Amino acid sequence: MTTFADVPATGFTGNRLDRADEIRRDPAALIACRARADARWLVLDGLNPVVKSGDQPSILWAYRSDVPHDALSIFLGIGPDGPRFAAAAPSAELISDFGGKLLDARAAGALLPGPEAAIIAQARSIIDWHQRHGFCAVCGGKTALAKAGYARQCSACQAEHFPRTDPVVIMLAVKDGHALIGRQPRFPKRFLSALAGFVEPGESLEEAVRRELWEEAGITCQRVRYLASQPWPFPSSLMIACFAEADGFEVRLDADELEEVRWVTKPEVRAALAGAGDWLAPPPLAIAHTLLKCWAED
Ligand SMILES: [Zn+2]
Repeated sequence: MTTFADVPATGFTGNRLDRADEIRRDPAALIACRARADARWLVLDGLNPVVKSGDQPSILWAYRSDVPHDALSIFLGIGPDGPRFAAAAPSAELISDFGGKLLDARAAGALLPGPEAAIIAQARSIIDWHQRHGFCAVCGGKTALAKAGYARQCSACQAEHFPRTDPVVIMLAVKDGHALIGRQPRFPKRFLSALAGFVEPGESLEEAVRRELWEEAGITCQRVRYLASQPWPFPSSLMIACFAEADGFEVRLDADELEEVRWVTKPEVRAALAGAGDWLAPPPLAIAHTLLKCWAED
């Protein structure tokens, strides 16, 4: 069986910033951080990051003076080169004056080094949350950013609201050298991946895995084993990858969720991951790739 050491780093992980909770809770420390000469901002325009163009893109870290003073700004953490923030702001000047370019966040996740892609995931999920939570879910009053971007507080009833992370289980049902993959109707042609679904309130991860496999494919499973997780900032999921031991091979498809399911062997998965199969496997950025790779190479 795959050991802990064998699981490769998943996409959007490896963030090396110290999130420095003590600074989030201390308004004076936060102001001092913002004023430091080595403070820099990751700018997101329409939730897409501004990066340095070139053969190997990297985050274009903007100076405080490059960011409008009234822009939505959150504290990311402290890095080796100073405090790091993210702001929702227009990108035109950064692009024209500093050779930046706006990159789709998914493309950024695939092209940037892991630790930088992870910073983009952190920034994108939190900024998206702020932009969609301007009003209090308790009383409807206006909310304002608090705790350096890790909360919003209602101006009327004072209720605090915190950024959400939505857990999603993504799993391979496995039996006798075969694994179950499927195609959602929205997937590109020939693309097949692990089955997945949101964890519901009042459910453990293991129960969510068993329920999703039963609902989508009519498969019953016994033992469920966790492999790895990854943030997926579209807008704020946590993908939790698992294996599940299936009782049998017979499937009953939920046609609303899936167009096709297929039991595949390890050689078939290895061929697809190498781009030589008769179906398209998920790219390395997606944890479904990790799940398939760990299983097929075990
Ligand atoms: Zn309120």
